[in-house]
Amino acid sequence: MTSATEGGKPASIVRQLHLPAANLNLENKHISKSLLTIPSAGNKMNTISQTAYSEFLQQVQARQVAQVTIKVDRIEYTLKSEFGGARHYTISDQFQPNLPNLLRNQSIPFTDERTSASGVLGLLLSMGAMAGALVWLAKFSQAGGGIGGLTGIGKSKARVYNQGKTGIQFADVAGVDEAKQELQEVVDFLKNGEKYRKIGAKIPKGVLLVGPPGTGKTLLAKAIAGEAGVPFFSMSGSEFVELYVGVGASRVRDLFQQAKRQAPCIIFIDELDAIGKSRGNSNFNGNDEREQTLNQLLTEMDGFDGNAGVILIAATNRPEILDPALRRPGRFDRQVLVDRPDKSGREAILKVHSRGVKMGEDVDLNASATQTVGFSGADLANLVNEAALMAARQNRQAVLMADFHEAIERVIAGLEKRSRVLSPLERQTVAYHEVGHAFVGALMPGGSKVTKISIVPRGIGALGYTLQTPEEDRFLLIEDELRGQIATLLGGRAAEEIVFGKVSSGASDDIQKATALAERAVTQYGMGETLGPIAFETQQAQFLDGGSTRRSISAEVASEIDRLIKQSIDRSYATALAILRHNRSLLESTTQTLLETEVLEGEQLQRILAQVQMPETV
Ligand code: ADP
Ligand code: MG
Ligand code: ZN
Repeated sequence: MTSATEGGKPASIVRQLHLPAANLNLENKHISKSLLTIPSAGNKMNTISQTAYSEFLQQVQARQVAQVTIKVDRIEYTLKSEFGGARHYTISDQFQPNLPNLLRNQSIPFTDERTSASGVLGLLLSMGAMAGALVWLAKFSQAGGGIGGLTGIGKSKARVYNQGKTGIQFADVAGVDEAKQELQEVVDFLKNGEKYRKIGAKIPKGVLLVGPPGTGKTLLAKAIAGEAGVPFFSMSGSEFVELYVGVGASRVRDLFQQAKRQAPCIIFIDELDAIGKSRGNSNFNGNDEREQTLNQLLTEMDGFDGNAGVILIAATNRPEILDPALRRPGRFDRQVLVDRPDKSGREAILKVHSRGVKMGEDVDLNASATQTVGFSGADLANLVNEAALMAARQNRQAVLMADFHEAIERVIAGLEKRSRVLSPLERQTVAYHEVGHAFVGALMPGGSKVTKISIVPRGIGALGYTLQTPEEDRFLLIEDELRGQIATLLGGRAAEEIVFGKVSSGASDDIQKATALAERAVTQYGMGETLGPIAFETQQAQFLDGGSTRRSISAEVASEIDRLIKQSIDRSYATALAILRHNRSLLESTTQTLLETEVLEGEQLQRILAQVQMPETV
């Protein structure tokens, strides 16, 4: 057996083992299989063939591998005799943290020589590996930042990419079923790419996961890799921020190069916003480094097609600041919302995290789910752990419901500081408000059907939402529909007024939108009764920042415009009030249901909305 640990002078071993390996990387990067002779410790020449790392993993999964030796710079293995018994090696530039676990799970005997080497020798070996990496990078990065820059690369390289099998499955991610459904497709692209290629379909290159922190975006990306059984390369946008000029870009290049060699695989870029911030609007003199990195990323994305088997997944909780170039077709043109979980989702997440924890008889995860409105997946994971810590501190054998109660209070106290938890009154207000939108929207013309009401707090801004799905694409709005849309927007505020006799500030966004619609009706669409079909605003400016320019008008016309806008809003508001008063008891019962389930959708919602009645006097 060729072994790095069998005697000899350390220095010469380093030369023999690592420099040739680094050269291999350079010269055979496109060749998945080649015959190579490697000098063994006993100076015998052994012929073994090189395999792609992904193929090695497949052979492991297919239980074809008899024995494995993990070395610092490569993995050597032998196939079982029924599969030919041949000896192979595979180069993997990265430390493989999960490989031992994977092999253990498959009961494949292995030796890990990275750790069993004697201390000094091990150190020398890993320094050798680093030297190899440096040589390798120096050749590839034309834009290297001098010696200092190169040392930087060497040091943080292993930290930036974490490549390997993740071992995480979709079953480990709960409460985000819609996202999982959408991502199932990506798994299929990776697993059965041939099917798509044969028929000539274009596989998407990039998927952007969008959602508040702690909702499981990173976890989902890993689960895709786990489900598809492909390597996972990950790096975080924030790692780039403090780099020397040119290093970020060359790292992106390097990452794509490595990934392409191991296709099918996933490249995951966490915190995409850190490099993907809109260019040209930074306060300082521009951030050259970030821009170069972003440009390189865009270039790389354009330079491969999804059919090559590499799929890029990125995550962000600030989609609004991303450079628009990132969202163009052929780049991150697919977006998947990863949202905070609703009640049943929270219960499912609690179950996932309770798997390895001893639970007492009285623990009721359903009840805990009820008490954890607004918690993210990460908050819930934290909650289970807090409860377990509490039980252990009191030397108990299992976690009791009392531990859960106390842990919930703790976590909430932490969250309240970040003002993410609503008081019961606020929740009620939000629930009435959303049902108000839904009821008015169900009756009013406007071409949209209410498909979902949710009071699960959103990350950004809104406390709840009502989702209206247009039944068909609408290009022309007739006057009634415009009124209907305005009334629907005002339905939330109308409900608050009816139920509480006063209104909250939560409707400000609705009111802005309603006012804007009413204004457009009068000034652009010529729908104002007294003014007639005269356009008082020109539309082109909308492309710039949504603002529009008024043509010069007399003071009388201006005040007439204001009067018409007010009249339109008043009428629509009166309609909304009338509808909700007429359906008051249904409003009450629906709100109660919504407070319990947090989300109303599907048939249940349609059954309710079908009962909403139009008052005679509207
Ligand atoms: P994000 O990337 O969206 O900020 P992470 O995926 O890093 O969130 O989540 C952090 C941790 O919280 C995960 O490792 C997991 O333990 C837990 N977690 C978050 N969301 C979920 C979920 N939907 N299901 C199960 N666990 C979750
Ligand atoms: Mg994350
Ligand atoms: Zn609203």
